Formats: sequence, C-alpha cells, structure tokens
Amino acid sequence: MMKKCPICDKTFREFEDIVEVEYKYYHEDCLEIVPIRYCAYNPNEDSEDSFIGQFDNDDKSWVSDMMDDGDFLEEKRFKVSFTNPLTASNPVESIDIFALDEDEAKERISSEYRQVLTVKLVN
Ligand SMILES: [Zn+2]
Repeated sequence: MMKKCPICDKTFREFEDIVEVEYKYYHEDCLEIVPIRYCAYNPNEDSEDSFIGQFDNDDKSWVSDMMDDGDFLEEKRFKVSFTNPLTASNPVESIDIFALDEDEAKERISSEYRQVLTVKLVN
C-alpha cells in the first residue's frame, strides 16, 4: 500500500520534499516547522577545536533567570536624560537602561551626539 501524508492525506510523489518525524513521513510544506537547536562554536579557536556543543531555545534567557543570586553582577535601571549638542533645537530626550551604577549608565549613553544631563535610579 502506498504511503500518504497524515496532514493532507495525499499519496507521496517521487520528488516531493518530505521529512521523517517519529518514524512517520510528512510533506515538509504540510508542517509548521520551528528551528530550535543551535550549534555553538568558539570563534577564537581553529575550526577543529571550535565546536562547543548544541543548545535549544529553552537554554537561552537572561542571566538572572538561569543563575542563582550571587553568581552574577546585579544591574539597576537608570533613566538617563540627554541632549544632542549638534542640533539647533537641542531637545531633551531620555532613555532607560540597565547598568551597574550611575557612572556606567552615563558612560554607555554619552557620545558626540548625546550630552548627558542627568542620571536617575528607577525603581
Ligand atoms: Zn502533505
């Protein structure tokens, strides 16, 4: 008996693209496919030694979700106000960022386009 795709119930044709999942065949186009596995390489190693391993989406998150308190540096949220000294109107803008302290928050936002006015801790 010829095999059918369980989704569309059509008999497979010779040159259709299929995938095997749990010992059953499906048309690739009949499935919703989500790529979840990644290969991790160390870019500082030569190609032979660079492969570290595989991980999936569940292995990706914020440090605070993955590790215990005390295993990482805690960041605080700061509101940084700044102006652009190169514009004539010079409007005051602000941005919220995470940083270890006020100095780092200021340093991260400062540039030739952004003159920092104030840095305030946000709770
Ligand atoms: Zn199908």
